Amino acid sequence: MGSASVIWAENLAKRYDNVIAVDGLSLEVREGEIMGLIGPNGAGKTTTIKMILGLLKPDRGQVRVFDEDPWDNTSIRSRIGVIHERAYFPPHHRVLDYLERVCRIFGEPVSRAREVLALLGLEYAYDRTIKGLSAGMLQRFAIAHALINSPGLIVADEPTSNLDPQARGELLDLILRLHREEKATFLISSHILPELSRVCERVAIIHRGRVWASGAVAELSERLGAKAARVLTDKPEPLAAAVRRLDYVRRVDTNGRGILVNTEPGKDEQLFEDVLRLAKGVEAKIMGMESEVASLEELFRLAIKSSGGSPG
Ligand code: ADP
Repeated sequence: MGSASVIWAENLAKRYDNVIAVDGLSLEVREGEIMGLIGPNGAGKTTTIKMILGLLKPDRGQVRVFDEDPWDNTSIRSRIGVIHERAYFPPHHRVLDYLERVCRIFGEPVSRAREVLALLGLEYAYDRTIKGLSAGMLQRFAIAHALINSPGLIVADEPTSNLDPQARGELLDLILRLHREEKATFLISSHILPELSRVCERVAIIHRGRVWASGAVAELSERLGAKAARVLTDKPEPLAAAVRRLDYVRRVDTNGRGILVNTEPGKDEQLFEDVLRLAKGVEAKIMGMESEVASLEELFRLAIKSSGGSPG
């Protein structure tokens, strides 16, 4: 058997009046892992998180966090650090003063405030007021706040959605570092799929209140028959346009240095030959080609399709 479950949910359901927000959702997050909860807006991620945190009582099903029912046993909240999409802190307080106060509330030594601020690279901001922090700094401050009492579980609901791409990348690097250094278990929700594949060891694909597929990204790729190849080239755009026209190609994404091609299974060799031929036609140089795990968008699409739903 693997590690113990930190979060275990079975067949959870929750409705708000006539909206079914969560509809038979099962999920397991194991000790020490970074689990991603991915799905579009309205999929039921926040409602699921609120049930995990004991803020909402499920209409049906069961949830256990550290082996306790979070609704009945609110004391487990002290073992969970929470990072919300839009963090709110009193704007006129100073960064260090505020966190030292939080230390006192939690019964932690006040030195922990400096420790977590240093961990998040905010030692230069001790004396700033909270309202003087940029969006990226505020999000790091929110994480510092969540870490004060060294929680074993960190739950982050859309932590990057208010950040620009650079700040997003930095935040994700930070999450990876915290995972290494603080050894906490993470549950991170996001509707911005590409970024989560970088940090999450496993993901659960959520749509219409249910988990449609879950597992390691590579394992899901395999299971859902999603194949991808990365082609390094000096002319990504024209090559992508040509590759997109191949009938076994499902999707092509570009970035500055190359293209990522999702194909039907069993087409690796054919893609290799076709790329070389098409590259000649658009006078693109090919610097390399390697197989890759499929993008999360593609996995999302395939997971919904293979379960007979529509991603709509
Ligand atoms: P996500 O976090 O994936 O965007 P949510 O859990 O916030 O999804 O929402 C799931 C569904 O429940 C959506 O249709 C949303 O509009 C609805 N919903 C969420 N909160 C409420 C609420 N307080 N009252 C009524 N409907 C809600």
